[in-house]
Order: sequence, then C-alpha cells, then structure tokens
Amino acid sequence: MEPSPIVQRLIQALGPELVLTDRVTLKDRRHDYWLLSQLEDLQGRGVPDPLCVVAPKDRADVVTTVNLCRESLTPVVPFGLGSGVVGGVRTGPGAVLLDMSAMARVLEIQVDNLTATFQAGVRGADAEAALAHCGLTLGHYPQSIDLSTVGGWVATRSSGQFSTAYGSIEDILLGLEAVLPDGSLLETRCVPRASTGPDLKALLTGSEGTLGVITAVTLSVRWRPETRDFNVFTAPGMEEGFETQRYILQSGWRPAVMRQYDEADAARLFPGLVNENLVLLLLVHEGPSAAVEAEKEACSALARELGCTPGDPAIGPRWMEERNHVPTFEEFLKEGIVLDTIEVAALWDRMGALYRSVMESWKTVPGILYRAAHSSHGYRSGLNLYFTFAAKPDRPGEMASLYENCWERAMEATLDVGGTISHHHGIGRVRKAKLERELGPGGIGLLRKMKQVLDPWGIMNPGVLIPD
Ligand SMILES: Cc1cc2nc3c(=O)[nH]c(=O)nc-3n(C[C@H](O)[C@H](O)[C@H](O)COP(=O)(O)OP(=O)(O)OC[C@H]3O[C@@H](n4cnc5c(N)ncnc54)[C@H](O)[C@@H]3O)c2cc1C
Repeated sequence: MEPSPIVQRLIQALGPELVLTDRVTLKDRRHDYWLLSQLEDLQGRGVPDPLCVVAPKDRADVVTTVNLCRESLTPVVPFGLGSGVVGGVRTGPGAVLLDMSAMARVLEIQVDNLTATFQAGVRGADAEAALAHCGLTLGHYPQSIDLSTVGGWVATRSSGQFSTAYGSIEDILLGLEAVLPDGSLLETRCVPRASTGPDLKALLTGSEGTLGVITAVTLSVRWRPETRDFNVFTAPGMEEGFETQRYILQSGWRPAVMRQYDEADAARLFPGLVNENLVLLLLVHEGPSAAVEAEKEACSALARELGCTPGDPAIGPRWMEERNHVPTFEEFLKEGIVLDTIEVAALWDRMGALYRSVMESWKTVPGILYRAAHSSHGYRSGLNLYFTFAAKPDRPGEMASLYENCWERAMEATLDVGGTISHHHGIGRVRKAKLERELGPGGIGLLRKMKQVLDPWGIMNPGVLIPD
C-alpha cells in the first residue's frame, strides 16, 4: 500500500531509516502499560497502529517532524519507552508516533557542578550506569528505571523510590530543552535557582506530551552514598504508622525511603516475615556513616516512643533486592481479573480518612478480590498512598466497566477528603475526567488556555491530560 502523504513527506525530509513503517515496530509502540489498552489487545479489539514511527537522532529531526505534522494537522504522540500506566500513549490510525528513545545520548556529566545532561530518550538505568562510572548517582529511582526515559520522567512528573530524601523529578530538574508545537525551541538556563518570572521548566513538567516535545534534560546528581542501613518496625494500625512517619519527618529526619504497608500489602509482599494483622514500616537510611547511624538511632527511638515494635530485619535487604520486581497484568487479565495501582496524596490530617474512605469505597464493588495500600513518599506536610485493587466480574465482557468502577470510586473518595488524584503517575486518559474537580474551573480553564495558545492546531498528543 502507498504510504500516506505525511509519511511520504517525513521520509523525504528525514530519510527512510528514521521513518519506520514495519508492522512489528508500529504494533510494539501503539500504547503504554495502561490496563485498558492491554485488555483491548487481549480481547481482540486492539489499539490501532500509528501511520509511522519517527526515530529522531537529534532535536532538528524533532523540529522537522513537528513542523510537517502541524502543516498537515497530523497528531504527534511522543513516546519514551511506553512504561506509563495511565494511557498517555495510545495512537490512533492517523497519528505519527515520535519515538524519543532513539535520542539516547548522554551529553555531558559535570563532576564539579554535579550535573548531568541527557538526550530525552536515555533510559533511566543507562543514565544511572553512566553516572556510576564517575561515582555518581541520580538519586531518582522509579520502580520502572529499566523501562522508562529521563524525558518521560519529566513529562509525567515522576517520583522515585528514594524521594523522601532526594525529592521527585521536579526537585532535581535543573534545565530542559523542548520543541514547542509551532516548531520553536524552549531552552532554559542551567542554574541552581532563578527568580526570573514563572518557571518555564514547570510548564513542560507533567505536560504528558500535550504542550511540546522534551528533547534534553539536565539533572542535578549526587555522589553515591557512603553507606546504607535499614530500620523495620511493626505498628498496631495505619493511624499509628502515619503518626510515626509524621513525627520522624517533622523532627527533621529524612530517611531516603520510608514505606508503610497495611496488613494486606504487608502479608502479600513479605509473606512469613510480618505477623498477621500488623502494619509494617520500612526505612532506608543512606549517606555519610555518622549521619546514617544518628538517623537510624533517632528514628528507632521515635518509633518505639510511638508504640511501634522492631520488625524482622530481613525485610530491609529483601525489599532492596526485590523492589523492582512486579508481576505483569497479562496473566491476571487472562484469568478474567482486572487490577491496578492508584497513587494519591494528602496532608497529614487527612491520611486516616483517605485510607479509610478509598478502602471503604471498594468494599461493595461486585467481585472485589483484593484491596490494600502502602505509602512510599513522605513529606513534612503529608504523605502519598498507593492503593491496589483486584476484582473479577461474572462475565469477561464486564471487565472494562468493573475496572472503571473501581477507579471512579477511588478518585471520588480521594477528592472528597481533599487529596490529590495523582501523586506521580499522571493523568493520561484514566484520570482525565476527574481533573476538573481537582483543579477547579479556574485551573482547568487556565490549562485549556495554555493548550490553546501553545497548540491551537491540537496536534500534540490529543486526548491526553486535558478534559475534552
Ligand atoms: C512496573 C512499573 C513501575 C513504575 N514505577 C514508577 C515509579 O516508581 N515512579 C513513577 O513516577 N512512575 C512509575 N511508573 C510509571 C512510568 O514508568 C512513568 O510514568 C515514567 O515516567 C514514564 O516514562 P516513559 O519514558 O516510559 O514514558 P512513556 O510511557 O513513553 O510516556 C509517558 C507520557 O509522557 C509523554 N512523553 C514521553 N516522553 C516525552 C518527551 N520526551 N517529551 C514530551 N512528552 C513525552 C508521552 O506522550 C506520555 O504522555 C511505573 C510503571 C511501571 C510499568
């Protein structure tokens, strides 16, 4: 079949080696990990292939692609490595997929300044390996570090497992370069901080491919920690655990990792290591030896004071070892089970209510098999909660509606107690309908105006983030 006019123009401008139309490549990159896209594939309805996949080498190729797509009003879907879980990547039959993982060069590491500049498509684990050669580390370790890109992290406002001490992506992002929908370039200056009007980096952070294509990022990196140690406790209930975490953080301690698992998640993730009906608290301390020792002791004393008891010390190293292992959805979907994780956040005074109301909201879901939560990112003023559900409807034809029902209940319960509907996975398609309630009419209006000003053609990742 003759390629469509836009594909012909792209081939002419970029060369055939950068414009891929083979079935395997197209099929491979049609969507991210979002459960509903995977379900559609399994049920034979499948997300359509894009027109082509463009694999740019540099920002000039991105500019050319964006310009040609704009001139022909062709949708452009930026793709990192497709590890998103909210439907941010889902191509239509008329879209061009821009595979940023083809731009995978480490551009510069400055040891004196502790900065590293990467093309946006560098895989997280490759960025970390390049830094390790110099004794450095990112300090940003999402569980998907092997499956995601540095540009994708910025585009989704990602948060890593060690964020309690090191911050999330916006805290280490020093500069970025992006191609805007009109083909112009945004290049922010690399400085530790600036007071030069609104932060333009923030405009692209969390924009999920709707406002432009991020082509390079500079991150603030750190020396690898001298030492690492663990603290494990059990608490009688979630509220006691929240109080312990709050006291530790508000006393000025900053464990790199602080996680709290409810009874169900503790039993599922650490079988045989936690007594039934107990909540588990896991802390990882890292840094200079003296600081680690002091922090471990102080957190231990605070936890005991607040009614926690020491847990099995094997849990710390075990979590470190297995922290990036996750089962794939496919095996559950084949069994007719829908499941997902939903990460939300709130201030400390709402944590108990947040936990209870989301859990309660799922109690009456028909076919519910599992509901649980753990926290993984702590702040002076609040905490995230990472809920997990699994449910099985009577008939396979009801899987999608049951999945949507679980999401709807969790989102409404979170909004009702004043929490945010996403801590770090983003909005994509799965949360889009709830964004207006979170941002309010003023906020959603501003977001729509920004989209209208930057992309009046509506070519950048249509259908994502911004409610229709
Ligand atoms: C097993 C697993 C564990 C995970 N753990 C974590 C975790 O610990 N923390 C966390 O934050 N997330 C986690 N995620 C979610 C996911 O990995 C992140 O959202 C990640 O940042 C996505 O990166 P990516 O490069 O794969 O982007 P993609 O999935 O390819 O794209 C995500 C979104 O960003 C846009 N985009 C991608 N690259 C660019 C670019 N260069 N310019 C403009 N837009 C772009 C896309 O259009 C899309 O809307 C996990 C996912 C999985 C599957």
